[in-house]
Amino acid sequence: TLEEAMLANQKSIDFTELDINLLPTVMIIGRPNVGKSALFNRLIRRREALVYNTPDDHVTRDIREGLAKLGDLRFRVLDSAGLETEATSGSILNRTAAMTANMLARTQFAIFLIDVRTGLHPLDQEVGKWLRKHAPGINPIVAMNKSESLHKDPNSFAEAATEALKLGFGEPIAISAETGLGMTALHESLRPMLENYMAKVLDGKSSQDENLSQDNGSSKDDESKLPLQLAIVGRPNVGKSTLLNVLLQEDRVLVGPEAGLTRDSVRAQFQYQGRTVYLVDTAGWLQRGDRHKGPNSLSVMQSRKNLMRAHIVALVLDAEEIAKARRSMTHAEVVIARQAVEEGRGLVVVVNKMDLLKGPRNSALYKRVKEAVPQEIQMVIPQITGIPVLFISAIDGRGRAAVMSQVIAAYEKWCLRLSTARLNRWLRKVASRHSWKDQGSQTKIKYFTQVKARPPTFVAFVSGNAKLSDTYVRFLTKSLKEDFDMGGIPIRIMQRSVP
Ligand code: GDP
Ligand code: GDP
Repeated sequence: TLEEAMLANQKSIDFTELDINLLPTVMIIGRPNVGKSALFNRLIRRREALVYNTPDDHVTRDIREGLAKLGDLRFRVLDSAGLETEATSGSILNRTAAMTANMLARTQFAIFLIDVRTGLHPLDQEVGKWLRKHAPGINPIVAMNKSESLHKDPNSFAEAATEALKLGFGEPIAISAETGLGMTALHESLRPMLENYMAKVLDGKSSQDENLSQDNGSSKDDESKLPLQLAIVGRPNVGKSTLLNVLLQEDRVLVGPEAGLTRDSVRAQFQYQGRTVYLVDTAGWLQRGDRHKGPNSLSVMQSRKNLMRAHIVALVLDAEEIAKARRSMTHAEVVIARQAVEEGRGLVVVVNKMDLLKGPRNSALYKRVKEAVPQEIQMVIPQITGIPVLFISAIDGRGRAAVMSQVIAAYEKWCLRLSTARLNRWLRKVASRHSWKDQGSQTKIKYFTQVKARPPTFVAFVSGNAKLSDTYVRFLTKSLKEDFDMGGIPIRIMQRSVP
């Protein structure tokens, strides 16, 4: 039957060979102390986790992401300790809401942990309510953790399971994050879900994908309405704080005086044309002395982690320094700019203090700075053309619109989604329109699809064992950017063989 054929086909998915960017994300949710971190650690073993957030001094509220291995399954796992529903202070809630929206936008599945020894707790119900409200599409696997003592006693197990059913998410499984008990049950519950998801992704029909027959092209409306996370980075004294104040204006909402403020990931928020913009923390970016440090120095490594918090990175340079120096950017500035695009962030370069350039606006010096910066950016980041560079004086209080229009334009491109139908029509046109010398390459692509946005990521399905040449991939990237106005932001094209 067709169903059997599909099942057989699904069974063939080998998670170990999939690109990590394609893997689904499973979020571990639950009230404090149920064992979320313990399960997270078991799933990622000793692999390194990315830490997104440490907003509170008293409790660990990090959001960690890691690559999970469970038998032959591979997936990305998020530990959601930031969800604690007892958070009461306004700014913590705001922050949590932003993090939450951001996390949910990236999550397809959830493991809902409860503590079997304490029984159902009112906060468990809260977590359930939260999930239904914010992610009605996610049906979590309920796991009764700390079951190592219980599983020998069928009566207490049945009792706990009956109680867990009250959450309304179906039959629970019993696990112990600490001893590893129940990992087979977890694997059995997850595998069909993840396989189903992967089968759709590999068919170019990822669950978030729009109706394929529709030809409205892009559907950027949803994701680009999510709060924008902006990082302002640069060397000391280039004018970051000044720019920050210009952006905040009267909308200024300073994050309150709670403990841990300095380590908080969101420094402030403001509204711009109906959007919420979060200014994410840049502590550890470029500190004094970093100018001479190499790419492996601790602070540069730290900055790489911080990068993941931002959607768009505004790199601030100092026009006066540029006028004096031979190069527009210091080594550390180049490293940060490169890392931003390598991590898939949108980059906007802001050259500040233009008022300090001597002479009129048409002076040779003025002209030289305006030409030198875009040229140098193009030289150090050759893979992306059209990274926006703008020239301002933050000190005169203007420049807000100039900076924000570029930031939002970059964000909308970063969130862009193109339908598979449109992309494949485009692919055929590209093939006929351009006289491409490596003609063989296009015929090898069976079809082309966008698997995710933020940043836009595409998969080219190539027949047999053929592999697209780097030149051809660059050509596709360039054409995509030109034809769909995605210049200036990093986009990714991956390849996958199909028979
Ligand atoms: P989180 O707040 O949900 O992240 O919970 P933690 O992972 O920090 O765990 C809270 C406490 O429960 C810690 O003391 C853990 O050692 C303990 N714990 C976690 N998993 C298990 C388990 O499977 N069995 C038992 N007995 N204790 C566990
Ligand atoms: P940060 O260390 O990057 O946050 O830099 P600040 O915002 O503290 O600015 C450093 C110095 O540069 C301060 O004295 C600012 O007044 C000054 N500054 C910032 N923007 C401008 C500008 O557009 N023009 C001029 N002339 N000075 C500026």
